[in-house]
Amino acid sequence: MTLKRNTWLLILMASIVFSFLFFLLLTNNRVEYIGKVDIALGTRVKVVVSADHPERVINAILREFHRIEDKFTVNEKKNDKSVISRINQSDTYPVVIDEETAFVIERSLGLAQGTNGAFDPALGNLIKLWGFDRISDADFEPDVPTQEEIDRAVRLSGYEHVSVEGNKITLENGVALDLGGIVKGYAIDRGVEIGREMDTDATGYIDAGGDIGIIGPKFGGDFWSVAVRDPEGEPDDYVEKVFLEKGAVVTSGDYERTFEIDGKRYHHILNPKTGRPVRKTKSSTVIAPNAMDADVLSTAGFVLGGEFASIMLPPLGGQGYFIGEDGKVKTTAGWHFFTERR
Ligand code: AMP
Ligand code: MG
Repeated sequence: MTLKRNTWLLILMASIVFSFLFFLLLTNNRVEYIGKVDIALGTRVKVVVSADHPERVINAILREFHRIEDKFTVNEKKNDKSVISRINQSDTYPVVIDEETAFVIERSLGLAQGTNGAFDPALGNLIKLWGFDRISDADFEPDVPTQEEIDRAVRLSGYEHVSVEGNKITLENGVALDLGGIVKGYAIDRGVEIGREMDTDATGYIDAGGDIGIIGPKFGGDFWSVAVRDPEGEPDDYVEKVFLEKGAVVTSGDYERTFEIDGKRYHHILNPKTGRPVRKTKSSTVIAPNAMDADVLSTAGFVLGGEFASIMLPPLGGQGYFIGEDGKVKTTAGWHFFTERR
């Protein structure tokens, strides 16, 4: 008898809770979000949008990611017709390039100068030597290059050997371009732009392997909270949360593209001076007004290390959070502006 009464009580309470939730659903005029996931630029791309025709917006953004991947990849197995392969493999210079290519390369050269070469878009020979241009291929066999090979590739690298004048680019000294440290950011920016062009009221975000560009504030006026991944933990573990209603946040981590030989792990961010994977940083996260700059500056911050990055990046438009090899955290002075929900 007691049991029965309890059961009735439970049912009654459940129905009260359900009707309340249903009421909330009916009266809630907050916008709904639709998300879709795809693979592009070697990473998982998730687009979350609220708009009049969200599917159309999402598909257009994902199409743009694939277009940019085909155009800028350096993985020759994937596409030897990319504009980057065409520039790298040309017998004569200058090579004529389109406006978009000039825009991305010029920005990468500007920030290479601004970061004292910590970010260098002309490391193509080094990156190829280590195999980080094709580490996601099934038949990739990792190998640690010899010191001689590394020295040679360092000599055949350096942004100072690249010049863009109008629609013409010249590579000297046998250098090759690799825009792997900027293209993902550029694709996010283009995606954000397309979303807003298609629907001025569109809100949402683009998440390309944890690198985020904001299309518009959550529910039209709220902040999106973005987790900064714990480089030592599982993919879902995080060390910090930031709140953004616009702009972008990008992380470069030592866990992203790696291979292991004799118990030693090698990852994809190279010190342009030594030609070897950077050891002093575990992860570098940068917030900037656009994803292209955040992408470049996160890679640069990784190479520079927290001590230098925390001073050098703010004048270039980036606020950052850097985890050193010893696990110590260093941030720029303005970072904390983003860690509180305002
Ligand atoms: P990210 O994951 O954005 O830090 O970019 C890393 C990618 O950028 C690598 O996979 C390389 O293609 C390229 N890269 C590696 N080291 C550098 C560097 N010091 N400067 C510019 N690009 C780099
Ligand atoms: Mg980057």
